[in-house]
Amino acid sequence: MQYVNSLLDLIGNTPLVRLGRTLDLPEAAPLVLAKVEYLNPGGSVKDRIATRMIEAAEASGALQPGGTIVEPTSGNTGVGLAMVAQEKGYKCVFVCPDKVSEDKRNVLKAYGAEVVVCPTAVAPEHPDSYYNVSDRLSKEPGAWKPDQYSNPHNPRSHYETTGPEIWEQTDGRITHFVTGMGTGGTISGVGRYLKDQNPDVQVIGADPSGSVYSGGSGRPYLVEGVGEDFWPETYDRSVADRVIEVSDADSFAFTRRLAREEAMLVGGSSGMAAFAARQLAHELAAEGRTDAVIVVLLPDSGRGYLTKVFNDDWLGQYGFANGATADHRTVGEV
Ligand code: PMP
Repeated sequence: MQYVNSLLDLIGNTPLVRLGRTLDLPEAAPLVLAKVEYLNPGGSVKDRIATRMIEAAEASGALQPGGTIVEPTSGNTGVGLAMVAQEKGYKCVFVCPDKVSEDKRNVLKAYGAEVVVCPTAVAPEHPDSYYNVSDRLSKEPGAWKPDQYSNPHNPRSHYETTGPEIWEQTDGRITHFVTGMGTGGTISGVGRYLKDQNPDVQVIGADPSGSVYSGGSGRPYLVEGVGEDFWPETYDRSVADRVIEVSDADSFAFTRRLAREEAMLVGGSSGMAAFAARQLAHELAAEGRTDAVIVVLLPDSGRGYLTKVFNDDWLGQYGFANGATADHRTVGEV
């Protein structure tokens, strides 16, 4: 019989899949491989950090049997934490602003978590604000707050799992690693590991226009999960060799192309990173670097964005041409 005892045993060891026609590359060109993280059991790369942060808190005693995990998150980290918590018998309370969609809240509840919704229309110092509520809840007895933005086990999980997987899967032939940056955990952990194996590996961040990582002030952009308006502690400023800025229009148009032309139903941050990898591949091809091996990490699935990136009306509402219904050339310069 072939089975695992727990879903947690299926976290990591995600495959590398060659990207093809969406790259529009000449025949002799770099190899571009996608690390498909939506194949993790919780549906995203965040399963990796959830496991590692919880195990470390158990080991240090910060999280006691029957304790409660409190984190301000509405997305993938919440799913990862809820999945691991359920398996290990912890409670989960997630605090999220009221702008978070009901669908997202329902996913967390489906995994057995409690969701506390805070008004967006109050100042950060207001007792009901997102920040104050999560602070208060995390100070209750038995509570533990992972804080993915400062927890060193976030980048460490990538140093210990994602990085070594990519190195082994490419037989050490990777020349460029491309990824988006939210907490910066992925780029810092994977980037450091790869450079420790071969200092010549180039680490490239992909970033929504307006975010601090590409020199912006945090001006709003629509792509979710990436870009910041502050510098998180989990981001190692010395690791990225270069940051490629990508517009919302290009991110969304490319996300749609990945689903339609490569059958990869991924989220907008994946489209953003893959668009940057495509740009890099074209630059390298023009320089004759056809031996380059580019790995781009795709963090999550497109299922969570069916009413946004994959909805023509939503795209149209923000002025992204007529919704990229069919012709990608009308949206961005893809
Ligand atoms: N994409 C999505 C959809 C995410 O949820 C995140 C995490 N915020 C990222 C990309 C960025 O990963 P990291 O936090 O490791 O920088």
